[in-house]
Amino acid sequence: MDHQPFWNPVIETMPREKLVQLQLKKFKRIFNWTYSHSKFHKGLFDSAGVTPDDIRSLADIKKVPKVEKSMMRDFQCKDPFPYGDALCVPLEEVSIFRQTSGTTGQPVYQPDTWQDWEWWSECWSYILWAQGYRPSDRVFIPFGYNIFVAFWAGHYAAEKLGCEVVPGGVLDTQSRILKIQELQATAMMATPTYILNMADVAKNKMGIDPSLLSINKITCAGEPGAGIPSTKKRMEDAWGAKVFDHSGATEIGAWSYECAHQPCGMHVNEAMFLVEIEDIKTGKIIEEPGKKGKMIITALDRIAQPCIRFDSKDVIEWDFGPCSCGRTFRVIRGGVIGRADDITKVKGVLLSPAAIEEVVRSIEGLGDEFEVIVDKQGDIDRIKLKVELKPEVAQSSIETALKDQLRLKTNLGYRIEYYDYGSLPRYDVKAKRFKDLRKKHAIDKECRL
Ligand SMILES: [Zn+2]
Repeated sequence: MDHQPFWNPVIETMPREKLVQLQLKKFKRIFNWTYSHSKFHKGLFDSAGVTPDDIRSLADIKKVPKVEKSMMRDFQCKDPFPYGDALCVPLEEVSIFRQTSGTTGQPVYQPDTWQDWEWWSECWSYILWAQGYRPSDRVFIPFGYNIFVAFWAGHYAAEKLGCEVVPGGVLDTQSRILKIQELQATAMMATPTYILNMADVAKNKMGIDPSLLSINKITCAGEPGAGIPSTKKRMEDAWGAKVFDHSGATEIGAWSYECAHQPCGMHVNEAMFLVEIEDIKTGKIIEEPGKKGKMIITALDRIAQPCIRFDSKDVIEWDFGPCSCGRTFRVIRGGVIGRADDITKVKGVLLSPAAIEEVVRSIEGLGDEFEVIVDKQGDIDRIKLKVELKPEVAQSSIETALKDQLRLKTNLGYRIEYYDYGSLPRYDVKAKRFKDLRKKHAIDKECRL
């Protein structure tokens, strides 16, 4: 079993025509379940005139109305407390509470039953097996186990695979590094921000070279960094390990993963999720590869608070052709490229913080941290970029390259401020590097991709 490349060979290499049939069968089942158990969903579907009898083919799915996050906040004000009327099971069947981090507003609560939780860890098992986790691995999880789902299901899945799991809960960064060293852990899971932060602490505060520790693979989630080539390279170089991308969300599930062939993108677990890409301008579903749009996603097996045609605002695009690993699950190119509501217009130009990250991390003399601040002087937008110089690096040696690359990749000019290494804020989970200080009404959030 250990040499077998797939967690579930039948599902992961299923011919596409069969896979699509499976998706339709599962969609009908979850739609039926939700229609008959969730008051909120029944009202939504009835108002669009869609009943379970109307879903006969995958094309019919487009008739099903999308669910926005704001709708979830609304239904959670209703009974039963605290989840509201999209809850499809009696409250006593809910076995775990989670909530979203609330970065885009009021947090959304997420109930799961034990069956849902087994489904979560099954989804993560696909991820970990594809990234080379095997029973011989000792997996260190440097995450503050709490109300955020983060790496909880990764933890359960690693146990399910037969790995040995070390929960690195409330330890501080230095203690975590010492534990990894002491136990010779072989794998870990964290946000890209924290992976880089840990490497920095090991190297510069403890005199430990993380690439000489025993970690040989790292699974990232929570931020797009592992899909940004220069950030991925920094992490791989620092730890001497393979770094893999994964994307999931509290209200969706663990829906995608990079495989060991590192196809510069992530497979969508199409046996568990139905992903549609919607053109942001026209609202049409994009089938062809290489065209960006926002993800509409359905979790095909989640029952307590179903996720049906959820408007995730994640910007993605289909890749061309199948992956060399043999999985028939489609790949999204470059992972999650950004968020539709994250991409802001500055001086009339669309700005993606990920593009700035790609530039900063590709310049050798700069530290990992940076900050982008957008404000207004009169009617003119201004962007300030704060970067850190690595010790003994002269500003003059990188200034031109940084300016040129920024202009090339983002089409914008910046006021760049250089700081001493270690002076910008460090983060343990998700970073807050992008600040838009312009007045709310002045922010043009129109997203044209
Ligand atoms: Zn693959």
